[in-house]
Amino acid sequence: MIEQTSAFCCPICGKALWKEAKSLRCAMGHCYDYAKSGYVNLLMSQQGGLHGDDRPMVRARTAFLSAGHYRPLLDLMYSVLRDRLPRAPHIMDAGCGEGWYTQVIHELLCRDGYLPETVGVDISRDALAAAAKRKFGAEFAVASLFHIPLSNHWADLIVNVFAPDCMDEYFRVLSPGGYLLKVIPREDHLLELKQAVYDSVYENEISLPEHDGFSLLSNTVLRKKLCLTDNETIKNLFAMTPYGRKTSPADLAKLENLTELETTISFSVLLYQKV
Ligand SMILES: [Zn+2]
Repeated sequence: MIEQTSAFCCPICGKALWKEAKSLRCAMGHCYDYAKSGYVNLLMSQQGGLHGDDRPMVRARTAFLSAGHYRPLLDLMYSVLRDRLPRAPHIMDAGCGEGWYTQVIHELLCRDGYLPETVGVDISRDALAAAAKRKFGAEFAVASLFHIPLSNHWADLIVNVFAPDCMDEYFRVLSPGGYLLKVIPREDHLLELKQAVYDSVYENEISLPEHDGFSLLSNTVLRKKLCLTDNETIKNLFAMTPYGRKTSPADLAKLENLTELETTISFSVLLYQKV
C-alpha cells in the first residue's frame, strides 16, 4: 500500500497528515475521521461557536450556481488568474461553501493542462458535505479561516468569493509571489432584488482588504443584468445573500408571487500578489 499525505496539516501540532482508510492521522497520533460524504473536520473545539450556511442555504446556492447564472463571474475570475500559475499549482478555496467555484476552477485548469492540487475550507459542515460529494479530486476540511490547517507557504493561489478577509492567515499560507483572488459585491449588486423586498434600500458599502504583505495587481469590474424567469430561482438567489436570514416574514412574503425579475449583478474581481 502506498501511503499518501493530505494537503492539510494537523491543526493541533502542525505536522503532516497521512491518509488512512477512514481518517487522517499525524505522527503524534492526532486523528481526524472523514465524514460519510468525504470531508474531514479539522475545526478545533474552542472554535466551535462559529456556524455557516445551513442546509436550505446550501441547497439554494447549489441550485442557483449550477444553473450557470454566475458563470460570467467565474469565467472572469479564471481569465484573471490562469496564465499566472505554475504547472502544478496548490490552490485553496477559502470559504468554499458547497464547492461550485472550487470545482469549476479546478476542472478548467485540468482542461488547460495544469495539474492542480485543490483544497476547500469552510466553517459549514452542511456546505462541505455538498462540496465533498462533488468527487473531483479535491480535499475539503471544516476549519476556521483564522486558523487554516495548511503549512506555511503551501498555496500558490487562494480563492476567496464573498468570504472573510483573514489576511494574516492568507499571507502565512501563500507561497512567496502567490496570489489571492478575491471577489466582492459592488454597490449596486442585486439592487433590484433588494428593491423588490425592502421599502428602503441602501447600496452596499465597499471596502477593499488591505495588508502590507500584498499588492493589488488588478481590480476588474463585472456588471450585468440577470433576467430571472421563475419564482424558485429568485428565491434561491435571495436565500444565498446575507439578507436571507435577516428579513422579516412580511418582507419575505413579497418574494412569494414574484415570477420575473431583472436585477443587476455587480462584482469586483481583485487580484493580489504576496510581496
Ligand atoms: Zn498532530
